[in-house]
Amino acid sequence: MDFSLSKEQIMLMQSLRDMGKREKFQELAAQIDASGEFPHYLLHKYSEMGLLGMVLSKEFGGEKESSLTAILAIEELAKFSPMIAAPVFESNVGPVRVIDMFGTEDQKRTIIPGVCRGENSVSVCMTEPEAGSDLTSLSTTLVEDNDGYILNGRKVFITGGGEASHYLVYARFGETKGYKGIGAVIVEKGMPGFTFGKQEQFMGLRGMPSCDLYFDDVRIPRSNVVIRSGDFGNLMLTFDIERCGNAAMCLGIAGGALEAAKQYAMERKAFNRPICEFQGIQFTLADMAMKLDAARLLVYRAASNAGQGLPSIYEASMAKCFANEMVKEVTDKAMQVFGGYGYSKEFPIERMLRDSRAWSIAGGTLQMLRITMASVLFGRRFDQRR
Ligand SMILES: Cc1cc2nc3c(=O)[nH]c(=O)nc-3n(C[C@H](O)[C@H](O)[C@H](O)COP(=O)(O)OP(=O)(O)OC[C@H]3O[C@@H](n4cnc5c(N)ncnc54)[C@H](O)[C@@H]3O)c2cc1C
Repeated sequence: MDFSLSKEQIMLMQSLRDMGKREKFQELAAQIDASGEFPHYLLHKYSEMGLLGMVLSKEFGGEKESSLTAILAIEELAKFSPMIAAPVFESNVGPVRVIDMFGTEDQKRTIIPGVCRGENSVSVCMTEPEAGSDLTSLSTTLVEDNDGYILNGRKVFITGGGEASHYLVYARFGETKGYKGIGAVIVEKGMPGFTFGKQEQFMGLRGMPSCDLYFDDVRIPRSNVVIRSGDFGNLMLTFDIERCGNAAMCLGIAGGALEAAKQYAMERKAFNRPICEFQGIQFTLADMAMKLDAARLLVYRAASNAGQGLPSIYEASMAKCFANEMVKEVTDKAMQVFGGYGYSKEFPIERMLRDSRAWSIAGGTLQMLRITMASVLFGRRFDQRR
């Protein structure tokens, strides 16, 4: 088994690290958190560097890089802050991949080049007030009309809500119950009947737009259908790429916290000695590094085996679940190393700890990931309704 990264991948990571130093990303991360404002100039910068849509099809402006390369870029930028990594996440592991894989020629031409230029972004819209983990109970409907469909319903917690140009909306075609009736359509910002709720106030990930979406008799042309009812399996398979991206965010946040805790332990003195000389602190740092590396191996395995396609549902679920738990533990331990200063907004650790919490809810909860893993282990699905 070859654990080495390519020369190009190592150079990419180094160049992102250098850019972070040059552009003072640590300070920028604190500013985004304090203001709740996302710095849109990053999109232009990332686009020029070829970081947006690097895995997307070449004919539409992407580079068709491997999933692992995108994961490495997300991880590296998330060491500063998941918000600084967000555009690379969205354009490489977000729902634009569904369009790249299953969309029509027209849909790809309309959306993907703009994503690579940082002008378009696509939000994934699954969750409803009464359907989160139980996605197959969703009640947003698409009713056939002369030349298309009429969309009605409400989505909640939609990342990019209000800001994104396009929305990949999961909805039920007609009356078909369960997963068989679910497909996905593209809804464009500004379509009549499509409105946004107020922006969410989350404990972390400040600067990330998120809100409810309302669809009141929105007219959807037939050409906006990406996945027809009956192809729900394809939708969920593509979602495993997003799960790897979610896990890469956790690697980045934990990597940032580990580095900060290591530096602090070498500088901070107690009992007249740097605290890194105390075995209790050394063991804490060693445990943090061990958990982070274990998560890294799982995430890289899932991404690496995906190549330029889709990861295995088992490997992606396991990687996300482990990384989601790891990042909470590592950021919490980092706070302990920082003592009282870790709890203060003067230092980045309290932000990292807040930013660590969402990943084990968004993109599939820890319980739902374990249900998926168990179904693969036992070779059968366990119906949660019975
Ligand atoms: C920061 C953030 C960003 C998000 N971004 C998006 C987005 O862009 N698009 C989108 O569509 N959604 C998004 N979400 C929503 C997210 O996907 C849902 O919150 C998540 O799927 C859980 O759904 P729920 O909140 O309805 O919880 P519920 O499904 O109500 O679950 C509540 C609790 O019960 C547990 N549970 C439920 N069923 C079972 C079971 N069978 N066995 C064991 N335990 C169970 C869950 O694991 C959870 O702990 C985001 C959420 C957050 C926090």
